[in-house]
Amino acid sequence: MPEDGSRLCNVAALADEAREVDLVVPLARLERIVPRLVSTEGTAKGRVALDRYQGHVVADVSVEAEVSLQCQRCLQPVSLPIAGSSRVALVESEAAVGNVPPELETALAQDGRLRLADLVEEELLLALPSAPRHPEGHCPGDVPGPMPEESAEPTQRPFANLGELLKSGRSKS
Ligand SMILES: [Zn+2]
Repeated sequence: MPEDGSRLCNVAALADEAREVDLVVPLARLERIVPRLVSTEGTAKGRVALDRYQGHVVADVSVEAEVSLQCQRCLQPVSLPIAGSSRVALVESEAAVGNVPPELETALAQDGRLRLADLVEEELLLALPSAPRHPEGHCPGDVPGPMPEESAEPTQRPFANLGELLKSGRSKS
């Protein structure tokens, strides 16, 4: 039975039991996500697996959600699936952050306690696109019909372009 992650958990105890917790968190409750959303309907699905790693309490956090964002091209709502995962060391103080191996993210668990929903929120925040857009060809802001004369240039292929850049870079050196 998934929980909503709003309860303060003793993370060391969960790590010692190597617990995996499935979470379903209403988007409306994620205060740092809400300002980015066009609609707060829906939920984020998360999983937090706790364990110990090199003496640290670590959480493998994964999250997926369908979120309604504002398309940066047409400014209309666009519903996008997002997902992310990270390995996070849960530390009890800012001072302990320095001991965490660099490959891990860190999160503060004051007095060893944390709401698992906060981990899900952080992961979701990292996964949100900074410039959300409708998928290619599905944006109402795209110009319909034939392109105007002046932009009737050959289709740009980003990698062909990159090849040109590399060539010119080489010829300069
Ligand atoms: Zn759009």
